[in-house]
Amino acid sequence: MSEPEQLKVVTDSAQATEMLGQRLARFLHPADVIAFYGDLGAGKTTFVRGLAAAIGAPEQVKSPTFVLMHIYQGRLPIYHFDAYRLKNAGDLYNIGAEDYIGTDGVACLEWSERVEEMLPADCLRVKIYYHTALGPNGRELIFEASQGRGLEIVEALKKQNDTGEN
Ligand code: ADP
Ligand code: MG
Repeated sequence: MSEPEQLKVVTDSAQATEMLGQRLARFLHPADVIAFYGDLGAGKTTFVRGLAAAIGAPEQVKSPTFVLMHIYQGRLPIYHFDAYRLKNAGDLYNIGAEDYIGTDGVACLEWSERVEEMLPADCLRVKIYYHTALGPNGRELIFEASQGRGLEIVEALKKQNDTGEN
């Protein structure tokens, strides 16, 4: 299989990461799946906050760690999952997640490491790392996909990035 397509972006504040979420939102369609990776406090929820704001959702974005899923209703529904407390993909299946993932809205999954088997092959992966060279607020975000919708979104983001659009 060919190497996945990637875009790397560095941010130096929570606001900058939120802005990236906002910039991604315009490319999203129903049934898209965004799989987030990265440690506690990396900025996964922060990114989804920007995304939900740009989709026009009035709800407050909080971590779904304890409730497993939040729904934000804007131009499209956003199904925001957190697999932190799940052991594996079977647990996600058991909470009925397949009724939401890949249906009428955009699914955002934090802690995708835990539920890799539930991710469609055409998902967009967003990996967030601490980038300490930039200080405590430095983060590196890697957008990655190898086929289908995920790949289309990475290509659109790259084009947007090259033209320096907001
Ligand atoms: P996660 O969902 O990955 O556990 P959160 O988004 O809940 O992470 O929290 C990220 C924390 O890090 C917030 O307190 C945010 O203000 C802070 N932060 C500092 N710098 C950044 C940055 N560049 N991007 C995202 N969050 C940042
Ligand atoms: Mg979170």
